Amino acid sequence: MILRCPQCKHAMKYQAMNGNLEDKRKTCVYCNRSFSVKSNILAKQPKSNNAYKGFKSAL
Ligand SMILES: [Zn+2]
Repeated sequence: MILRCPQCKHAMKYQAMNGNLEDKRKTCVYCNRSFSVKSNILAKQPKSNNAYKGFKSAL
């Protein structure tokens, strides 16, 4: 999926492991800020139409 850093707004790829993102954090490769993965998802790779619709309606 694609994450967006809340500080510098850069987008970056993130390889999700085993589904649960609740406690996952990522360190921004641009500004080194650590942020919550779940709260900063920019786009999910659309594996299915349903997942993609769910993302769009959440915006
Ligand atoms: Zn950043």
